[in-house]
Amino acid sequence: MESYLGKYAALLQGFAFNGYRPIFFDQATGATGELIVRHDVDFDVKLAHDMSLAEDALGVKATYFFLMRSDSYNPFSRANAEYIHSIHARGHRVSIHFDPTHYENVEQGFLEEKALFESYFGVPVTVMSVHRPNDFLKNCDAPLCGVEHTYQNKYFKDIKYVSDSQGLFRFGHPFETEEWKQTKAMHLLIHPLWWMYPNTKDNVDLLDRFVTERANRFQAHVAENCIPYRTRIPS
Ligand SMILES: [Zn+2]
Repeated sequence: MESYLGKYAALLQGFAFNGYRPIFFDQATGATGELIVRHDVDFDVKLAHDMSLAEDALGVKATYFFLMRSDSYNPFSRANAEYIHSIHARGHRVSIHFDPTHYENVEQGFLEEKALFESYFGVPVTVMSVHRPNDFLKNCDAPLCGVEHTYQNKYFKDIKYVSDSQGLFRFGHPFETEEWKQTKAMHLLIHPLWWMYPNTKDNVDLLDRFVTERANRFQAHVAENCIPYRTRIPS
C-alpha cells in the first residue's frame, strides 16, 4: 500500500519507532505519545477496508468515518456494509462522516443519520467527523446533540493536528513538526484514497487511476445485471 506520498506502513512504523501509540478519541488525554489515527472516508469503502487490513498487520487501531449520503458510495450496499462490519469486527471504530450542508436543520439531520447508522450497523455513535466543516462547526467546541466531534478543541487545537487533505501534507509532514520531536500528542487524519495507488506521480494522477478503477468496477456491475452488456467485458 503506497503512492506518491510514500508507504503507508512506513508512516505508521515511523510513529511507532518514535514512541507513539495509537488510541481512540475517547481515550485521549493529551499525554505524550498519544496518536489518534482518523480516517474520513470520502470516496470509497473498499479502499478503507484495505487500509484497515494493513493496519491490522501493524497492530494499529483507527477510527473510520463514513458518509451516509454521498454520490461517491452507498454505505448500505451489500459489499460496503460487509466491509464496514469487517472493519468494526477487527477492533477498529466506525462512525459517521457528517455533511452538514445537506441540511437546513443541522441537528435534526444529524440525529436522522445517527439513528440510521446505529440501527443498521448496531454501533453507537459516540464521536463523529464533519465533512468539509463549515465555520460554524470548526469553531464550535460543543458536542452536537451530545455527540463529540473531531473539531472540538481537545482534538483539533489542544493537540497537534496533521492532515493529508487534498493528497498533500500542506502544513508539513508529521515527522517534521516540533511536536514530533517531543513526541507530543497528535491527531492524524488520513484519507485512505491517497495511499492506495503505487507508481503515481501526484494527487491528480492518483485520482485518474481511482476514477478508471471505479469505472471498471461499475462496468462489471452493469454487466452482471444486464446480460447483453457482457459483450463489453474482455474475457
Ligand atoms: Zn470528508
